[in-house]
Amino acid sequence: MNILLPKPVKTSISKPFWDGIAKGRFSLQFCDDCSRAIFYPRGHCPHCFSDQLTWKEASGQGRLKTWSIIYRTGHPAWQEKTPYVVGVVELADGPSMLTHLLIEPSEITYQMQVSVCFTTIEGEVLPFFKAKGEETP
Ligand SMILES: [Zn+2]
Repeated sequence: MNILLPKPVKTSISKPFWDGIAKGRFSLQFCDDCSRAIFYPRGHCPHCFSDQLTWKEASGQGRLKTWSIIYRTGHPAWQEKTPYVVGVVELADGPSMLTHLLIEPSEITYQMQVSVCFTTIEGEVLPFFKAKGEETP
């Protein structure tokens, strides 16, 4: 049986993020009042509670804070992709992001530099990350 992968849930607040990803642009909300970048998409800045947020293109670069190799998935559709790696990337713009890593487990090191890698799976473009400077897998 072919089980479809779960799709990202796109809300009115997160839609600009996903629209950008679909076009190969990595954007974040920036607070007009305290200038900090935020992720995940929200209606208010988590630092100063301002609702004046503006979408801007971000670097798509970061450093790996932590990771885990997945052998048993939370959703059955991902099981055939195992083992794969998920990790938390501290984005150069400030916030951290949980993401899928396109890096061999033996190559992973703490604080390694990574960059966004737009990856299409079942017609959906997803913001995975790869080692900085590596070719797209
Ligand atoms: Zn703010």
